[in-house]
Amino acid sequence: MKLVLIMLLLITSLMTIVGAFLMTSITSFYIDQFYEQMSGTFGNDRASFYQALRSEAAGEDGLQRVRQMLEANAGALGIDARSRNYYILDGNSGAVLTGSDEEGAGQLVQTANLMAARNGEVGDDSDITANYMDFAIPIKGDDSFFIIYIYDNRDAVSDLNAQLFMIIVQALLVGLLISVLLSFLLSKTMTTPIEKLTEGAERVAAGDFSNAITVESSDEIGVLTTTFNDMAAVLEETLAAVETERNKLDTLFLHMTDGVVAFAGDGTIVHCNPAASAMLESAVEVMDYDSLFAGLCPLSELRALRRPDFRAAEMNIHEKYIEIYFAPFDQDSGSGVMAVLHDITAQRKNEEMRKEFVANVSHELRTPLTNVRSYAETIRDSYDIPREMENGFLDIIIGETDRMTHIVQDLLTLSRLDSGRAELKMLRFPFGDAIESVCRAVELEAQRRGHTLVRSYDIGELPMIVGDRNRLEQVMMNVIGNAIKYTPDGGTIRVSAGSGASKVWMEVLDNGIGIPRQDWNRIFDRFYRVDKARSRESGGTGLGLSIAREIVLRHGGTIGPVEHEGKGTTIRITLPIRQAAQAGEHHE
Ligand code: ADP
Repeated sequence: MKLVLIMLLLITSLMTIVGAFLMTSITSFYIDQFYEQMSGTFGNDRASFYQALRSEAAGEDGLQRVRQMLEANAGALGIDARSRNYYILDGNSGAVLTGSDEEGAGQLVQTANLMAARNGEVGDDSDITANYMDFAIPIKGDDSFFIIYIYDNRDAVSDLNAQLFMIIVQALLVGLLISVLLSFLLSKTMTTPIEKLTEGAERVAAGDFSNAITVESSDEIGVLTTTFNDMAAVLEETLAAVETERNKLDTLFLHMTDGVVAFAGDGTIVHCNPAASAMLESAVEVMDYDSLFAGLCPLSELRALRRPDFRAAEMNIHEKYIEIYFAPFDQDSGSGVMAVLHDITAQRKNEEMRKEFVANVSHELRTPLTNVRSYAETIRDSYDIPREMENGFLDIIIGETDRMTHIVQDLLTLSRLDSGRAELKMLRFPFGDAIESVCRAVELEAQRRGHTLVRSYDIGELPMIVGDRNRLEQVMMNVIGNAIKYTPDGGTIRVSAGSGASKVWMEVLDNGIGIPRQDWNRIFDRFYRVDKARSRESGGTGLGLSIAREIVLRHGGTIGPVEHEGKGTTIRITLPIRQAAQAGEHHE
């Protein structure tokens, strides 16, 4: 529509200007021609004609003579008696004496040129605004005074202009019609590719890159279409790359063990990975920076940081130790803050355990050392000490040194097991035989304490297993030994065993002091004893079950207390019959 309107406006204004120019040109040409004719006839070139007119006018029948001369020159003056006429006026009165149009003579107006002629001058001023052209020349004889007045009512030029106007209007109409048609066709050829391009752009905007737009021409629009197709291709590639990058990051965030929480500039959460939700254990979606970490570092301070600066903080939440690193990242709505959460609970617990362990070792060694020192000092300082008493003291010293040796040996064993240096000698051996030899070894001690040792297994039915026999016997010895130790004299200790498809088990049941439920997990901790005094009294180090568990775990088995009716304790050991790795390098 715009194009058509512009064309119409253009054609109309062009035709109007051309028409106006033509019509003005024709009028001025006509006027110029009139005055050229007049001056050509009466002016300098033909001064003789003017002289002849004067001499004729001076004659007796002057008026008639002048009239005849004018009639003779009518052709040169362009007088046609219709639009252009001549009149001969009396110079003094201004009355029309004769003329080529007798009727029009009465309507003559006193024009400026006529007035000039009456004053004796030639009236040859042209006036383009007037609707007539006139020329007046005075002819003075001795006593006669005529004015020759030529008057043109411009009908000829008006007719011509009217015709021209009609032609221009017709040409305008035809031109408009043609231009409407042409501009319509032109706009069609221009807008069709633009419409196609628009459709394509809309498809691309909606994310559909499947169809490239066909290039139909090599003009600017063709170039634009090609460029657009290239741009869409680059955009598709870039989007695919961004998508892959985002998927990678998503997967990373989803599966990484560290928590990641991203906050927008106003503190709202924009991203939170599962690890972070698990660590913070709260409805993270409805929380913001202030409700989570306000106490650690103000958000405004973090937002003012510039990469690669960061802030580290630590917090204790839900019995977990979490180390947090804060760093700013750029976002559209101002810089946001990223928090990376690292769960250091296990590390902390390990540190605490290590400290506790060192404290325990020192304590365990200090007690016997103090004893040794005080008895040795007593022996040194007392000269009259009876021999038996001295022997008794020396026995205590030997006992305490044995105890220390025991502790140090146990610690060594544990350290070897921990570091994996303790090689297990994996061999096939009958499980039943091992139990039987342990039972036989402790039988005497049990008897001494008045215990009844019940063997509730059938050696023949127990299978061969693969394992380090010596170490497994050490485990059994420890468990049965504990049962003997922690059961008041005269108790009953039952050792039972059996096998399944891939496992063997052994249970040691006693009716002794039992282990409180809350200590079940802790008895395997190093140096942990439920009843410290009793354990020490019976020569225990608090390391036996720790070593036992390490050995059983290295065999791929389990060890632990199980539910027990009545008083006492039941410890159950399970072991795989055949280990996956025969080399003895199996680690839990
Ligand atoms: P200890 O050298 O002190 O016996 P252990 O590691 O063998 O060390 O055992 C750890 C603790 O577990 C013991 O001090 C004891 O308090 C408890 N315990 C182990 N076995 C029994 C049991 N059969 N009855 C009661 N308490 C037991």
